[in-house]
Amino acid sequence: MASLSLSPNPDCRINATIFSPRMQLPRRVVVVSGVSGIHLPAKSSLSASLEKNRKNKVAVVRMSSMSPALHSYDVVVVGAGIIGLSIARQLLIGSELSVAVVDAAVPCSGATGAGQGYIWMVHKVPGSEKWELAMRSRELWEKFAEDIKHQGMDPQEVLGWRKTGSLLVGKTSQDMAALKGKVDQLSKAGLKAELLSSIDLMEVEPALVIGEEGCAAFLPDDYQLDARRSVAYIEKENRKYAIEGRYGEYYNQPVTGWLRSGDGKIEAVQTSKNLLYSKKAIIIATGCWTGSLMQDLTRDLDIELHVPVKPRKGHLLVIENFNSFKMNHGLMEVGYIGHQDATLQPSNLDSGVDHHSETSSISMTATMDSLGNLVLGSSRQFVGFSTEIDKHIINRIWERAREFFPSLRELSLTELEKSREVRVGLRPFMPDGKPMIGPVPGLSNVFLAAGHEGEGLTLALGTAEMVADMVLCNPSKVDKAPYALHGHCS
Ligand SMILES: Cc1cc2nc3c(=O)[nH]c(=O)nc-3n(C[C@H](O)[C@H](O)[C@H](O)COP(=O)(O)OP(=O)(O)OC[C@H]3O[C@@H](n4cnc5c(N)ncnc54)[C@H](O)[C@@H]3O)c2cc1C
Repeated sequence: MASLSLSPNPDCRINATIFSPRMQLPRRVVVVSGVSGIHLPAKSSLSASLEKNRKNKVAVVRMSSMSPALHSYDVVVVGAGIIGLSIARQLLIGSELSVAVVDAAVPCSGATGAGQGYIWMVHKVPGSEKWELAMRSRELWEKFAEDIKHQGMDPQEVLGWRKTGSLLVGKTSQDMAALKGKVDQLSKAGLKAELLSSIDLMEVEPALVIGEEGCAAFLPDDYQLDARRSVAYIEKENRKYAIEGRYGEYYNQPVTGWLRSGDGKIEAVQTSKNLLYSKKAIIIATGCWTGSLMQDLTRDLDIELHVPVKPRKGHLLVIENFNSFKMNHGLMEVGYIGHQDATLQPSNLDSGVDHHSETSSISMTATMDSLGNLVLGSSRQFVGFSTEIDKHIINRIWERAREFFPSLRELSLTELEKSREVRVGLRPFMPDGKPMIGPVPGLSNVFLAAGHEGEGLTLALGTAEMVADMVLCNPSKVDKAPYALHGHCS
């Protein structure tokens, strides 16, 4: 019998929730009791199993001295951000496999919870390595929203899904030349794109003031979602599979080690509370923590793997129930593109010290979410793993937004103290600007899906499809070569 312990999670503040689906544990393990879905192994059977592992030359990596509960799944996904949860969803809907999702905390505690929610193509480059994945991912989001509609629900309510269109805005004649080129490029790639003059913009976005030379690339078919709502919905959908014994959630338990068998396969993932056996695949989707986790996990193995993911901190300023003016589209200043792509000196990346001028940049992004909150961004900083709110950065985001929306100058941030929220997240930055998606060289059943920087929401469903196709040995819909991992075993 499946045993469930459910707690609704509309805003991702869920505590530990364990679904314990029907278990098919390895034969050598004896389950002696089950309480509220938590099955405890007999101590003796665990040590017997470890002893057998040792005899079979199994590498036991940092096992805890306490007996963990044992569970078995086809696939174990580590990381319950948008990437991990989407991968779990794809495997659940697209196969018969059972899936466990593990997280050190809860969904949305990583970068996902801070995401602004644009699913935009306006700032992307047709023909670039990531273009195909972005297009496929967007198509899958559209299909996801359509399916929700066909089930009689409103995608705006469920996902915060809205076709707001996007405006990439510039103020100077150089910006105008760049934006004109952008519109041509996007049109040639088959997207509906228009160049709007400052006069056109007065009509479509009256609160925006960018001067006579200003203009914007407009993509009417770009979308926006609410990351927290989308995650809550994906979780809810994934949980439906727990009833048939195909889904388990293990939150608030960091992965601390794993078990490796003699044939090089990783047999199980060790968390602070459980030992999760995997029959088919282990997927590491731990965002900006992936580098350090993989370093820890592979330390005792003969594998050289470089996972250069770094945390890139971002702040968003949310003004709740905003009604000073209406905003009809999502907006981003053209400088965002350079700001996202900026590669910084390794010394800056590694220092962990906040030298504002060297390691932080701000560019204006503005969206209105489905609840009527004005969401202003965004910052990028290399300051290690700190998620502390930096007031200096918030002031800079506010000042930058006021340069585009002068009516904000009539409002003071101090007065808005009670109706504002600051979101901070650590984007998983990759020096080459591409996520790592694929099998880990030397560990045939371990896959990585991390490093999506500022595009993880946009690329989530395409990434999930790609990973699921890899696990299921299906042909890939999108060229996976640009995302392959490099490394070797000695
Ligand atoms: C301010 C801001 C705005 C953004 N806006 C957008 C946007 O508009 N559009 C867009 O496409 N993208 C946006 N992004 C980027 C997007 O949010 C990220 O790319 C995406 O959320 C990354 O998802 P993830 O699942 O890889 O990582 P995360 O969401 O960080 O999830 C990783 C998970 O791994 C868990 N974990 C870590 N270590 C362990 C361990 N040892 N064991 C178990 N679990 C572990 C963490 O607890 C976490 O839950 C934005 C990001 C920020 C910060």
